[in-house]
Amino acid sequence: MYDLIIIRYGEIGLKGDNINDFISQLVANIERATRDLGEFEISTVYGRIFLYAESDKIEKIVGRLVNVPGIISLSPAQRFRIGKKVANFEQQDFEKLKRKVVQLFKAEVKNYPTTFKVETTRADKSFPMESPELNRELGAEILREVESKTRPLSVDVHQPEHLFEIEIRRGKIYIFIRREAGPGGLPVKSSGKALLLLSGGIDSPVAGWLGLKRGLTLNAVYFNSPPYTSERAKEKVVDLTKVLSRYGGEIKLQIPYFTEIQQEILKKSPRRYTVTIMRRMMIRIANRLAEMNGELALVTGESLGQVASQTLEGLRSSDEVAEFPVLRPLITMDKNDIIALAKRVGTYEISIRPHEDCCTIFVPDNPATQPKLDTIHFGEEDLEIENLIDRAIEKMEVITISEGAAE
Ligand code: ATP
Ligand code: MG
Repeated sequence: MYDLIIIRYGEIGLKGDNINDFISQLVANIERATRDLGEFEISTVYGRIFLYAESDKIEKIVGRLVNVPGIISLSPAQRFRIGKKVANFEQQDFEKLKRKVVQLFKAEVKNYPTTFKVETTRADKSFPMESPELNRELGAEILREVESKTRPLSVDVHQPEHLFEIEIRRGKIYIFIRREAGPGGLPVKSSGKALLLLSGGIDSPVAGWLGLKRGLTLNAVYFNSPPYTSERAKEKVVDLTKVLSRYGGEIKLQIPYFTEIQQEILKKSPRRYTVTIMRRMMIRIANRLAEMNGELALVTGESLGQVASQTLEGLRSSDEVAEFPVLRPLITMDKNDIIALAKRVGTYEISIRPHEDCCTIFVPDNPATQPKLDTIHFGEEDLEIENLIDRAIEKMEVITISEGAAE
């Protein structure tokens, strides 16, 4: 039924001189997100992006695009050619247009009673009919053809449930009745590089996605503790990275060997502080990796008060050793909202697979929720921190993950 998708972007419109870079980046990101569905013609016109595709693929593509950062909204649309000269639009063309409009309305509007409104944008002023006239005529046609006892329908010009839009531009009429919301934000790769601390849980992939949504380019680190953690736990993280990669381009997943560090902490640090100290070791390794890769920030999935280590004291203890800003996109979010976002992005089903990550196994029954810096420093005294980090990185595995289109 549809021939194309009209894609609208928001904030990148504010970028002045760089606007073309932003748009090209967004187009590249759109290609990547839809690459496995096919190759599609994309054009950028009138402050919009048009993606042309076979009608049977449109809904799938829409499902991807609603998650591509930088997109504010999109509409699957039908294109109606008027011919070379718009002014020659004739009665028979108009009849055809009316039929198409009614067809589309019937296909998309399933629940009655309902209300609607037709709204025309006439960028092409040579078009012989004026917008109010078109609105009136097409609205009347919809009422005539659709309205019935079983399908009560009326026009509501103020708050219609369905807005039927007609856009007339350069010899073509675009008709559409749906506007799907995109995530907004900025195109991935427009805000610099950061390192995501990615566990197999629900939160950190969502944090990563929100970072992508603000234009970050991500690499990831996953701390793995074999044989305490299974190969399956690692596979989970690989799969999560694949989902992020679909939106974020190539992601280097780095997997330092964390087992020795955890064993040392268990042996040498106060039991109630093991989680806090383990977090600090993660941050320290992340510092090194970020330095190696040229990243300027760390991203975690922490949310204030969600678990024992995510108190202000806990965050402060991590920040004390961080050499880069630690971005925590979920910090004020509730679990339910995080889960909803995870479902939307496509990471939830992977995250809930039942494999423990390194940390759950080592968590004491009664971890300190208000770790004091002095006590932490004391608890770290016997650890050979730099050596431990060196060895964790020496034994690090690196997997480069690139879903979607080539760069
Ligand atoms: P998640 O759902 O992301 O696992 P969580 O609610 O389980 O988070 P914690 O286990 O306290 O919270 O972890 C807090 C954050 O620390 C995670 O969101 C993630 O950014 C990072 N993190 C925790 N464990 C690991 C790990 N094994 N590898 C990499 N990062 C980790
Ligand atoms: Mg976790």
